[in-house]
Amino acid sequence: MGYRHRWLDGSAMAWPAAKAVCLGRNYLAHVQELGNVLPTRPVVFLKPGTSFRALEDGVILPEGLGDCHHELELTVLVGERLSKADAGAASRAIAGYGLGLDLTLRQLQDELKQQGQPWELAKAFDGAAVMTPFVAVAQLPNAQDCEIALRINGEDRQRARSSLMITSILDMLAFISQSISLEPGDVVFTGTPAGVAALASGDELELSLDGRWHFAGRVL
Ligand code: ZN
Repeated sequence: MGYRHRWLDGSAMAWPAAKAVCLGRNYLAHVQELGNVLPTRPVVFLKPGTSFRALEDGVILPEGLGDCHHELELTVLVGERLSKADAGAASRAIAGYGLGLDLTLRQLQDELKQQGQPWELAKAFDGAAVMTPFVAVAQLPNAQDCEIALRINGEDRQRARSSLMITSILDMLAFISQSISLEPGDVVFTGTPAGVAALASGDELELSLDGRWHFAGRVL
C-alpha cells in the first residue's frame, strides 16, 4: 500500500512524498514537559518518505521498543522548490496544511540522546509520520494562529494554538531551506505542543484543525 498525499476531497496528488523535515522543541510548554533545554537555533531532523502513513489507514506501533508517543503537529505541504529562500518566497511556496503525528519511541530516543546519537531509529521508522489529508493554503489564512487538537478515546490530550510556536512557519521554512532544499510534495512538521504521551492499541484518535476539520483514525 503506497502512501500518497491527498487533498480533503480524497484526490491523490501527483507530487512525490519524498521526505518530511521536522522541528523539535518549538513550543515552550513541550520543551519543559520533557525537561529539555530551549535550543539556540531550531532543532531539525528528517523523516523519510518510507515513514509516511495515512491516518485513515490506522496507526501502527512498533513492537518491543518501549512507549510510542503521539506528537500532534501542524504540517505544511510544500508546493514549490525552496532553496536558500527568504520568508516571502516561503510564503508563496506553501500549498496546504494538515495535521501529522510525529510518532516517537520515547525511551529509545532518550537512550539515543544520552549517547549523543541521532534520533532516527526513534522517529523515522516505517509508519512514524502519520498524515491527514491536506487543506488548500487559501482555506487556512490564519495558519500561524489556528488551534490544533488531539482527542484520544474522547479525552483531550493535546490542544494548542499555532501562535505559540517559537519559530514561525515562514521563518522555519526559510531556515530549513538554507541547508536542505524543500521540493514540491515535501512536508514540514512544525513541532508539537505539550501533552505528549504513549499510544495504546485500540486507541480512537480525533485530530482537529482550526475547529473546522476533523480527522479520525485508530491505533491498530
Ligand atoms: Zn515532533
